[in-house]
Amino acid sequence: MRRSPVLQSAPNKRFSARTAVLLIDNLPRMYCRRLLKRGRAASSSTFVSEPFVDVRVTMGMKPLTTARILLGAFLIGGVFGFASVCFAQTSMPPAVSVRLVTDEAVAVLAILAKRKANQPITETDWQRVFSSEGYVRLKQRELSLKRSFEDNDFKTFVLSDQLAERAQALEETLTRWSNADITGAARLALAYLPKEARIRAKIYPVIKPRENSFVFEVKTDPAIFLYLDPAVSKEKFENTLAHELHHIGYGSSCPSKQVSEEIAKLQPRKRMVLTLVGAFGEGFAMLAAAGGPDIHPHAVSRPEERTRWDKDMANFNDDLKKVESFFVSILENRLTDDEIQKTASSFFGVQGPWYTVGWKMSVLIEKTYGRAKLIECICDQRKLLPTYNEAAAKHNRISSEPLALWSASMVNGIGRGKH
Ligand SMILES: [Zn+2]
Repeated sequence: MRRSPVLQSAPNKRFSARTAVLLIDNLPRMYCRRLLKRGRAASSSTFVSEPFVDVRVTMGMKPLTTARILLGAFLIGGVFGFASVCFAQTSMPPAVSVRLVTDEAVAVLAILAKRKANQPITETDWQRVFSSEGYVRLKQRELSLKRSFEDNDFKTFVLSDQLAERAQALEETLTRWSNADITGAARLALAYLPKEARIRAKIYPVIKPRENSFVFEVKTDPAIFLYLDPAVSKEKFENTLAHELHHIGYGSSCPSKQVSEEIAKLQPRKRMVLTLVGAFGEGFAMLAAAGGPDIHPHAVSRPEERTRWDKDMANFNDDLKKVESFFVSILENRLTDDEIQKTASSFFGVQGPWYTVGWKMSVLIEKTYGRAKLIECICDQRKLLPTYNEAAAKHNRISSEPLALWSASMVNGIGRGKH
């Protein structure tokens, strides 16, 4: 998690109510620590239902060859010899409004194509990049983080030999990603969210100097920025989308107003722990993106990612106890704000305990009590640990490989919510 200026200015202060508020406000930003490096997600909000089909591929690539059912394809203009095409899909659930916006990547690729063909690159070409929606919002985001983002620096990046060498791979990747099943990704996310969940997002595959991906303006105009990475397959892209869309859908519907109000009345230390329990949302998102508890969460990842996950999962019991000890230290007021921030961040890791412990708890709850019960726990974090404990105790009675349980005193200490 990115440290807020307020917390940085009070390095030795013990835990405060202010810390809890900051963490609550920043929780979605804490999600996807690795993927969403320094993302600027805001806290949850309620979206207005958008009862219309709205999946568009706002892009300048050639019309997509896709097996998906397309309601219509509307030619809306040409860009550098490519056609901009708008697709709508009949199968998109009404709760979802997701657009893939590739205008920045297309405009950059057009310049790379001209450079390769030794054609002059005009001011119009550059303006097409700089006025693209992807570029404009990327710039806004970088500037909001006080990072330098100058058009001239970007020109240098686009004209670099390194990018020229990658031009073909980038174009192939964009085509591959543009054929991704966005509807399917949204459906995966919705399957692990309450009925009232809404998903509204624009997805920007972008060619840019930094190799990070992030979410932006989740409250107002939710955006998912994904660094256009040739190493990412279409399937992995879909998996990542489902994961991110789950976070966005979660933000639109959980926790409920009533749960939020109840949690707001708790002592700050308890609130802090419950806020951090919400970081297990990484595990929920992994499960949702995989499509079910029997599907490996890295089924479509590179082998090394899957190996890392399996290795980390072998430490589940130890990791659960590490997180427990962290929670207990907070409840006993033994940590400074900085220490809390540091440990919470370390549990993101590449895919640390917020992912692995969160995933395994979710899987066990779903397999023991069904998905509806899991969704109930997703939306009221007070229920997650006690429900997991009950499921694990049941599991331990018949298994030779016992699972660690959260200590009863800690679980009781933060409260269980209403059953
Ligand atoms: Zn995530």
